[in-house]
Amino acid sequence: MNSYTFSVLFIVFLGITVSLQFWLSSRQLRHVSQHRAAVPAEFSEKIGLDAHQKAADYTIAKTKFGLLALFFSVLVLLAFTLFGGLQLLAVTLYKWLGDGMVYQLGLIAAFALISGAVDLPFDLYRQFVLEEKFGFNKMTLKLFFSDMIKGSLIGAAIGLPLVWVVITLMDKSGDLWWLYAWLVWSGFQLLMMLIFPTWIAPMFNKFTPLADDSLRARIESLMSRVGFASSGLFVMDGSKRSAHGNAYFSGFGKTKRIVFFDTLIARLAPQEVEAVLAHELGHFKLKHIVKRMVVMFAVSLGFLALLGYLKQQVWFFTGLGVDPILFASSNNAMALILFMLTLPVFTFVLSPLTSISSRKHEFEADAFAVKHTNANDLVSALVKLYEDNASTLTPDPVHSAFYDSHPPASIRIAHLHQQAKLA
Ligand SMILES: [Zn+2]
Repeated sequence: MNSYTFSVLFIVFLGITVSLQFWLSSRQLRHVSQHRAAVPAEFSEKIGLDAHQKAADYTIAKTKFGLLALFFSVLVLLAFTLFGGLQLLAVTLYKWLGDGMVYQLGLIAAFALISGAVDLPFDLYRQFVLEEKFGFNKMTLKLFFSDMIKGSLIGAAIGLPLVWVVITLMDKSGDLWWLYAWLVWSGFQLLMMLIFPTWIAPMFNKFTPLADDSLRARIESLMSRVGFASSGLFVMDGSKRSAHGNAYFSGFGKTKRIVFFDTLIARLAPQEVEAVLAHELGHFKLKHIVKRMVVMFAVSLGFLALLGYLKQQVWFFTGLGVDPILFASSNNAMALILFMLTLPVFTFVLSPLTSISSRKHEFEADAFAVKHTNANDLVSALVKLYEDNASTLTPDPVHSAFYDSHPPASIRIAHLHQQAKLA
């Protein structure tokens, strides 16, 4: 491979990925508009025309905004790579900081800051125009910026030492650096799972023990029926930022916490909360979470091995607009940046694969919930959540196969009714 061939390959894949995304979005826009006039028959008794049309308008607005963001992100990607942005940034910092670790960490930090600044107008628009217009935004500008500053500081406090370790391994530990880096990365992921719920999440949200005694009793009975031990049931003040509702649980081993968004508790009846939780517990009991982690570790090992090869190829740098000869022995941070920046261009076509396995898990967790609670409760909870989140009931099937981790509403609910009959 030479530098020119790799540039061409990059442009070809970028062209494929962008056209594919553009095509998927236009399919989605067409499909949702075509079904806007009437509520699908199977939902006509549960969802009003107003709510259905709000969901269509919200989906259309998000998809159109996504197209604009896509167009812009391609420009930014090209500006960083082929048009020489990263090269210019690196030369500037290298002159200033010289060869070595300080330059490499500086390059990563500068790249992260610039990317964040470039994304900022889009994030602001998404939150304060788009979400606001449909009544989902509950954030103030002050909260938005305090989140941003807090997030950046925590990101730097955790991220820079991690990057320092990885770059040191790349610099000094020989040809198998990627294997050591993988061990460090995997350990880091596990550590984050351990400290995130108890140390980091509380810096952004308030977690209060679930106060409703009858709901608590109901949930505890469900947990003992399915054999699940948790270190606590918490309600999170999600309504501080958004009207979207959710339930999740986090941590592992003895630190597993079940967390409900306050918006979810306020909206669902107790038996519906129970059904939603049974679905989440299904993911745990059926080992979906462990399986997902194993896949994630295997994939990151593969990618790190690939990076181990790429970082030794001059064409990998020159083909993306960077001349590695200029930076003596300090090219590893640049290799990391180029890799993370361009990887999605080459992997987007594979996204249906993750959707397929994720949907399989969703169906299994639904079946688990039906077995331990009531299918009708889960259906009515899902319908409320679709309505409250203005999720479209009529997504384009191909768009959905690329982007949605969950099956489309009608298919999922049809499955649930079928499960209920079998049970
Ligand atoms: Zn699920």
